[in-house]
Amino acid sequence: MKRNRVIAGNWKMNMTQEGAKALMQDVIKWMPKNLPSDVDVVVCVPFTLLNFVNDMIKGTRIKLGAQNMSWAEKGAFTGEISASQLIETGVSHVIIGHSERREMFNETCETVNKKIKYALANNLTPIFCIGESLEQFEKGETNATVARQVKDGLNGLTEDELTKVVVAYEPIWAIGTGKTASPQDAQNTIAFIRAELLKNVAEQMPILYGGSMNAENAKDLLSQNDIDGGLIGGASLKAHDFLCIAGSTI
Ligand code: PEP
Repeated sequence: MKRNRVIAGNWKMNMTQEGAKALMQDVIKWMPKNLPSDVDVVVCVPFTLLNFVNDMIKGTRIKLGAQNMSWAEKGAFTGEISASQLIETGVSHVIIGHSERREMFNETCETVNKKIKYALANNLTPIFCIGESLEQFEKGETNATVARQVKDGLNGLTEDELTKVVVAYEPIWAIGTGKTASPQDAQNTIAFIRAELLKNVAEQMPILYGGSMNAENAKDLLSQNDIDGGLIGGASLKAHDFLCIAGSTI
């Protein structure tokens, strides 16, 4: 089974209905008609826009994603959101363990692992984020860092479950900074991550690059052997840039 490629926009805490409408109208209108069928285009929007964007993308090839999810089913978890609540709004993908959540909201590898398991149990596709800090990068600890994150984050998953996970390698120093890992560095780390994953299923798991991917650098990054797509923050808020990135998969 060949793995799919994924182009996923992460809107973060941006947009209200007005901006979302304008952005999605353009994305839908100008989506390249010849985009290969193995490319999943996903928009991960704020919770408040899920229903709104879901209505807009009906009948298109665009899929809906959320940016976080609880590991609990329901109950006294003020401010959290459950898998069934996401599914009701049309969500198929959910970002888990983004570095902004790990760094600012104390997400640990343990909670990330629980969330991934819970997403899979509910037939949601987790976009599992990993990546090293600037300090770790400068000390040459990139591989050791991502190996630990992969081991802990995917702990206890069966091979069948692993094939349903999308991994996003995002060097933290490249997120929202305008600095991008060189295509060769990104390829090397992603090839290493693939080797770290269970050998039998590694070839079936899409691994994305994230970190200041834009209309100019996407082609070089996406043409690397092991890079199966992108998780895109800032550039996903501009229709032209997001579509250029998606179009770089052609
Ligand atoms: C992200 O939020 O995952 C991301 C990669 O952001 P940016 O593209 O803005 O660096």
